[in-house]
Amino acid sequence: MLFKNKKESFVVYTAGAAVLKEIASPVVSVNQEIRDLAEEMIKAMRFFDGIGLAAPQYGKSLRLVVFDVPKQNSTGTPGEEYLLPKMPLAVINPEIIARSAQVTEREEGCLSVPGIYAPVVRPSSVVFRAQTLDGEFLEFECGGLLGRCIQHELDHLDGFLFTDRLSPDVERAIRGDLNRLKSAGQNRNYRRIK
Ligand code: ZN
Repeated sequence: MLFKNKKESFVVYTAGAAVLKEIASPVVSVNQEIRDLAEEMIKAMRFFDGIGLAAPQYGKSLRLVVFDVPKQNSTGTPGEEYLLPKMPLAVINPEIIARSAQVTEREEGCLSVPGIYAPVVRPSSVVFRAQTLDGEFLEFECGGLLGRCIQHELDHLDGFLFTDRLSPDVERAIRGDLNRLKSAGQNRNYRRIK
């Protein structure tokens, strides 16, 4: 039994939580605990309507990420073609081993930064390397929404939020909202519960 309560509940940590600032630890072996965690994270991501969730957002400082990027968003890169049909997908120890020189500006949001959306400039595509829970090694160029989501989620493993990646103007524009979010979070231990 994954859940003790009849009513399932999921917790996502929000901006200001210490766990979101840590460098997450590698997953050394895929045991039942990791499989259960990945399954819970996939459910939580869906409850909160996200397309990606990193373990630190779920309160676990581990290099484990789940994705649920919709298929219809493919721009045709090899990683999108291979991985989008496999969604939802859990991976361990993901890395970005190359980044395109070309960049794209795209609006981002984050389950850990509820209600705040802002444009972020990032490489248009990345070469993504990771392992699935079944031990399959993945290495693909990923662009489009998946490439963006990979960059956003992997940042969580190194203690960064998308709000750390804003241009000075955008940062200034959302600073008040972000500060309000952080101080509101203090009163509920930086947790959103559903
Ligand atoms: Zn996020």
